[in-house]
Amino acid sequence: MTKPRNLILVLGDQLTPTLTSLAAGDPAQDRVLMAELHDETTYVRHHKKKIAFLFSAMRHFAEELRRAGWTVDYVTLDAQGNRGSFTAQVAEAVAELKPERILVTEAGEWRVAQMLEGWRTTFPVPVEILPDDRFLCSPTEFGAWASGRQQLRMEYFYRDMRRRTRLLMDGDQPAGGRWNFDAENRKPADIDLFMPQPKTYQPDAISQDVLALVATRFGNHFGDLLPFRYAVTRADAEAAFDAFVREALPNFGDFQDAMLTGQPFLYHAVIAQYLNCGLLDPLRICRKVEEAYRSGTVKLNAAEGFIRQIIGWREYVRGIYWLKMPGYERSNHFGHTRPLPDFYWTAVTDMACVRAAVTQTKELAYAHHIQRLMVTGNFALLAGVDPHELHEWYLCVYADAYEWVELPNTVGMSQFADGGLLASKPYAASGAYINRMSDYCGHCRYDVKQRTGPDACPFNALYWDFIARHREKIRHNPRMAQMVRSYEKFAPDEQQRIAESAATFLASL
Ligand SMILES: Cc1cc2nc3c(=O)[nH]c(=O)nc-3n(C[C@H](O)[C@H](O)[C@H](O)COP(=O)(O)OP(=O)(O)OC[C@H]3O[C@@H](n4cnc5c(N)ncnc54)[C@H](O)[C@@H]3O)c2cc1C
Ligand code: SF4
Repeated sequence: MTKPRNLILVLGDQLTPTLTSLAAGDPAQDRVLMAELHDETTYVRHHKKKIAFLFSAMRHFAEELRRAGWTVDYVTLDAQGNRGSFTAQVAEAVAELKPERILVTEAGEWRVAQMLEGWRTTFPVPVEILPDDRFLCSPTEFGAWASGRQQLRMEYFYRDMRRRTRLLMDGDQPAGGRWNFDAENRKPADIDLFMPQPKTYQPDAISQDVLALVATRFGNHFGDLLPFRYAVTRADAEAAFDAFVREALPNFGDFQDAMLTGQPFLYHAVIAQYLNCGLLDPLRICRKVEEAYRSGTVKLNAAEGFIRQIIGWREYVRGIYWLKMPGYERSNHFGHTRPLPDFYWTAVTDMACVRAAVTQTKELAYAHHIQRLMVTGNFALLAGVDPHELHEWYLCVYADAYEWVELPNTVGMSQFADGGLLASKPYAASGAYINRMSDYCGHCRYDVKQRTGPDACPFNALYWDFIARHREKIRHNPRMAQMVRSYEKFAPDEQQRIAESAATFLASL
């Protein structure tokens, strides 16, 4: 066996042919190592569909690399030589192949980044960690943007990213004369027989093998394994995205915040799982969306709304993650300690909105943003659930979940556990918000119009109880002060009924 010059480790969320570690290597002289590792599948017990998706996408990517001339050592989960962890697997490959150097692109998560750093002293060969250029803003650039600012608001970061990428710019002005069309994106959806569905795929032979493996090895993890309909190759993920641009993007903006019974996807793209493992490229898909706007097939509020999610929110939460790790995962501004209620795993609850969000999460490893933020996230915030337990739940249950993007969304945006670093106010809402944006309340055993009592929507008493419990922490927030004042104007017996209703409901969990 000839000795490779470089051993190139490709991680499970680095399925991109232009990855910096591959670009720095040479197919003729180097060896690629990829491995399905027990440690990575169980540090939280990921949804079965998420594991199957990643293993299948990894196996397809290994094939893509081989076709491009690379020699790839791919260690499946059930292979005899599987050592269970990155460090053990790489140690074995180093001992066996004796490469001159290890090349790896920097990790997406702090935990893995620490491990890669540790290799510099563990292994007898140099370890080169290369930047990940699949993001538009590096952690260092974000740090420079953040430094000296009193408040880190996404909107200003986003404008800089628009200027930098030139997306939706007319000269030095934003297309349409405004940076943000969010105010137009708050329509509730109606039942529509022609609602588009995301493009789906039948599992091929590689996916079938993976599905059998996951069924055997991870049968006791959360979620339904079948049906399995994901794209697992770059070409299919691109085709799924193109179908979204044609069919759903025209309505993406208008109904971005809507929720509808029996419609898990509405007009969302359902692509975060492809983007986050490297099958889709963020800038490339934004350019396609801009093209759709420039050619007149979608309106500006849809194109801008979509592009803002990618070059704004996605990059911004990653910047916050690297700025604040380690430690961010333990943020708990409100001191919440309640264990996560069982119905986050079982979907057994009378609350129709929570039941719908958790049921589809179990079936599809997917819920759209407003379900995550305003249903499961909002409930946990109002009920005082420990943000760290909630973070582990979100990290487990969604096919697109990686700590760098999940943690700031959960701890920062949805739980305000960082005290307002990321969000300008807690995303706390009563049943009225869910009623306005969905049709769930019409199918619910609770009455959204009642504030207290056994038949009242639990979100209502919990909302006012949250305001009451935390009023000293939120009264100076200009976006919350009005709610504190409203609570303080309630008669004492109404305040008493709120406290009792909330306590009775929480005791029943
Ligand atoms: C509590 C909570 C946890 C979340 N956890 C994750 C997670 O683990 N992984 C993840 O990718 N997103 C997460 N999000 C953000 C968002 O909900 C998902 O990106 C989105 O629902 C994925 O579905 P989609 O592809 O249909 O998105 P669309 O609604 O169609 O949006 C298009 C794309 O924009 C990006 N995007 C939109 N909103 C955000 C956001 N707030 N942060 C980062 N990117 C965004 C995503 O890449 C998404 O695919 C979370 C949000 C909340 C409130
Ligand atoms: S009434 Fe309350 S619990 Fe029921 S669906 Fe509406 S918001 Fe959810």
